[in-house]
Amino acid sequence: MTIQIHPNKEGFYNEFGGAFIPESLKPAINELRENYLKIIESKEFTNEFIGLLKDYVGRPSPLYYANHLSNKYQTNVFLKREDLNHTGAHKINNTIGQILLAKYLGKKKIIAETGAGQHGVATATVCAKYGMECKIFMGALDIKRQAPNVGRMRLLGAEVIAAESGTKTLTDAVNEALNEWTISSHDTFYLLGSVVGPHPYPDIVTRFQSIISKEISKQIEEKTGKNYPDVVIACVGGGSNAAGAFYEFLNNENVTLIGAEAAGKGINTNYHAATLTKGKTAILHGSNSVVLLDENNQIADSYSISSGLDYPGIGPLHAHLAQTKRAKYIAISDEEAISAANVLMKKEGIIPALESSHALAVLDKVKFNRNQNVVINLSGRGDKDLETFLENIQ
Ligand SMILES: *Cc1c(COP(=O)(O)O)cnc(C)c1O
Repeated sequence: MTIQIHPNKEGFYNEFGGAFIPESLKPAINELRENYLKIIESKEFTNEFIGLLKDYVGRPSPLYYANHLSNKYQTNVFLKREDLNHTGAHKINNTIGQILLAKYLGKKKIIAETGAGQHGVATATVCAKYGMECKIFMGALDIKRQAPNVGRMRLLGAEVIAAESGTKTLTDAVNEALNEWTISSHDTFYLLGSVVGPHPYPDIVTRFQSIISKEISKQIEEKTGKNYPDVVIACVGGGSNAAGAFYEFLNNENVTLIGAEAAGKGINTNYHAATLTKGKTAILHGSNSVVLLDENNQIADSYSISSGLDYPGIGPLHAHLAQTKRAKYIAISDEEAISAANVLMKKEGIIPALESSHALAVLDKVKFNRNQNVVINLSGRGDKDLETFLENIQ
């Protein structure tokens, strides 16, 4: 089966994707679908996007040869340093792209969902820069658990709106944000945080994050003489940093692609977010993909020590890559992630995000050869996770 890097006109990667939305959302989605490629591919947009990535985000992010990790694991380990971006993770690549898309579509206001608050902060950041009114929907429970990010969003001028329905977490925030969008889409843009949701969002976010692998290709050539690595590893929540890190190499069969999903307290417990290991085909948030379901075939509650991976779904591109076996997905437990983070801290002097630590832990699970070049996408920094690390690491 050939790999579909982009979805077809209806938004499908083979059987996965699409836009399963209520009638009331169709005008908003249609406007986006009919215009996004024209805008993203225009010279004016590209120049503005690339300029901001350079001067505002600080790109290109370095590709760092981690010599102590390389010695320990007896292979060549390179870290793609998305943790050094403004706001501390890869999420800003996407929010910069989408705020520009909103501007080119003539929208004046932004709404977004957020779980742990990382996407909310990245969205509030670009809204401040572009002077756009910003409403962030966040589960009432998450607002309590993620006080520092709520504070950041407010300082940046955003209004944080509590989603009081259901479990009062991310899924409810998405539902309430979508409801708000149905009544406001004439002047409001919905800024979505990962490669999930109805078409064309998975494709939009993949294209904006593809800057990661485009840079890897150039940087690895400077370091090794070859414009591709042998292996790329990235963690997957919704799957945006992984989609960005894989993109340029999807049709290069010399490159092994590995996604690390959250095994939480174990894939045989009810406390994990190992969607591709344990999930089934179902529709969630507007697209057909692989989803964690409970015994009654309802969407299950996911769990991970890292809030960014704590999502019961996954983007349709990854469901496609898993089904075609183009990429391999490995489940990493909380404990394995913490242990891998500890190695990076002590051996390389870098405190990674808990999410990224799942990607690092693949080095303990898969043996690579001495002469292989392995790139790990370090999706974010660990400042937000200090408390968890301090509780778990001596
Ligand atoms: C949000 C987040 C993730 C997970 O999101 P993806 O869309 O799967 O990339 C991973 N790492 C960090 C640091 C994050 O903030």
